[in-house]
Amino acid sequence: RWEEITAARDVASVSLDGHRISLNVNVGLLIDLPHMHAAGADGVGLYRTEVPFMVRQSFPGVADQADLYRKVIDRSEGKPVVFRTLDVGGDKVLPYWSTVAEENPAMGWRAIRIGLDRPALLRQQLRALIRACEGRDLNVMFPMIAETAEFLAAKALLDRELERETSIGGILPKKIRVGAMLEVPALVWQLPSLCREVDFLSVGSNDLLQFVFATDRGNTRLARRYDALNPGVLKLLRTIADSTAAAGVDLSLCGDMAAQPLEAMALIGCGFRSLSMPALQVSAVKKMVCSLDVAQVTDFMSGLLDEADHSLREKLEEYAKKSGV
Ligand code: PEP
Ligand code: MG
Repeated sequence: RWEEITAARDVASVSLDGHRISLNVNVGLLIDLPHMHAAGADGVGLYRTEVPFMVRQSFPGVADQADLYRKVIDRSEGKPVVFRTLDVGGDKVLPYWSTVAEENPAMGWRAIRIGLDRPALLRQQLRALIRACEGRDLNVMFPMIAETAEFLAAKALLDRELERETSIGGILPKKIRVGAMLEVPALVWQLPSLCREVDFLSVGSNDLLQFVFATDRGNTRLARRYDALNPGVLKLLRTIADSTAAAGVDLSLCGDMAAQPLEAMALIGCGFRSLSMPALQVSAVKKMVCSLDVAQVTDFMSGLLDEADHSLREKLEEYAKKSGV
């Protein structure tokens, strides 16, 4: 597997027609970080902060969290890291956190909903992130944002923590970029207001697709029922890419969809220029990028987005074969 990770380490992620595609990794534990360097990735597109919380016996305090986040940044050796605030609840349970049973946990009290209802928890995490990033860049995003107002409420907590840190004479991060994950369909129609507020957006396609198709992402009976390459989904993704580009907001996608070369090709054809995936997938996606003509695939796809197909998979496979991708 090491050979697989490093296979395209020194290859630049640039398409045949000169488009630079940023390829990043999804990380949950410190031991994942060497893989980012080994894969020749651009940075950490998604650091799932709940993962270290899940493997502990109790809730880590501010100092413990700051230590951990500092290590993440140190080991990234100057490559950017996007920290996602806690996404617990739903299928991600903390063994020391008692939850009330919910009928639909994926649509339940999870992620930013907990963070806003229990602001002390989120503020502690933000304080730890600010301290870990003193004098360096902080990139932070909030999961499961459903409305612009929710993003603003979360950002207000960050601003309060920044003020607090200033008032006690702490050193602030050099540059702060604040983003939202786009995982809840309702947010798509709020892109005009959201894009005025965020520095970047990252599409969480695992949750977004589960809500778009109304299918539980963990239900094996439904796993093959709908396809991420459905023309409606791709049209939705194209709309997101167009709106963010028009507003000058950075866009990325960090769900499983980014990790398969064919899906990644389709995403690039929809306007995505930054993807985040497990380190193991980076070399395969990078090889695809290097053999792709972005202008041509964009053109090819725009003719298909209003088709009635269950999936554009076959047509995209055929295109890739014919054009040597
Ligand atoms: C997603 O929903 O696509 C995502 C990246 O977040 P997670 O898989 O952690 O819910
Ligand atoms: Mg998600």
